[in-house]
Amino acid sequence: MKQYMKQNFDNAMKLPMPGKTFAKLGAKGDYVALQVRPGLINKHVTSEQLITLANLEKEGSVKYSAGHSFIVTIQQNSMEEAIEMLTQVGLYVVPPTPCATLKCCDFCDGDVLDALPLARQLLLQIEQMPMKQRIRIGFNACTLACYNAVQDDLGLVFHNGKVDVYGGAIPMGRRARSGQLLMKNVPEQQILNIIQQLLTLYNTSPVEKFATFIKREKATIQLLQ
Ligand code: SF4
Repeated sequence: MKQYMKQNFDNAMKLPMPGKTFAKLGAKGDYVALQVRPGLINKHVTSEQLITLANLEKEGSVKYSAGHSFIVTIQQNSMEEAIEMLTQVGLYVVPPTPCATLKCCDFCDGDVLDALPLARQLLLQIEQMPMKQRIRIGFNACTLACYNAVQDDLGLVFHNGKVDVYGGAIPMGRRARSGQLLMKNVPEQQILNIIQQLLTLYNTSPVEKFATFIKREKATIQLLQ
């Protein structure tokens, strides 16, 4: 094993760079990038899903992203066929249009399910809701918050039938920062309504940047509770 670990590290240290980036493919034709996930909650991939991704990679490229997704780059004219293939093996395609999208934790691989009814309700009502910009809503099913909900545009952290709501994170760049706590111990029955109102407020606001919107409208948002 030691020998293989050494060989493995040596191979990695060759630092291979990708040959089929979005930019390189785009220089050759009309390509689009799809954000693809094993599921809305599940993070494991099956052999059938991997085979489908491998087949798509032959004509385009597949990489994984910091946002818990595969980025599948394919030719524009084969997008419909690719989505059909992905759908057949249960891979979820995040719409490429501006919308709200939930980034759920994996519920400890399905062992911690108290928050599942709320997550299902939010997914049904909010996932893919048209927005003026893509809004990432982190949903973590316990206070360990190991999927970093507080780093998303909105972060929902579930505990004992209640939810803490964070907002306004700047997830990258030199000014990166976590979201601020907007509401604490919100009963789960109220969350859907509050998030819908908050997203509608943002959609009708003249402010584009979500973190700025949260900063400016914090007092109004807190009245939603
Ligand atoms: S946030 Fe909590 S419930 Fe979700 S995967 Fe992490 S530890 Fe498990």
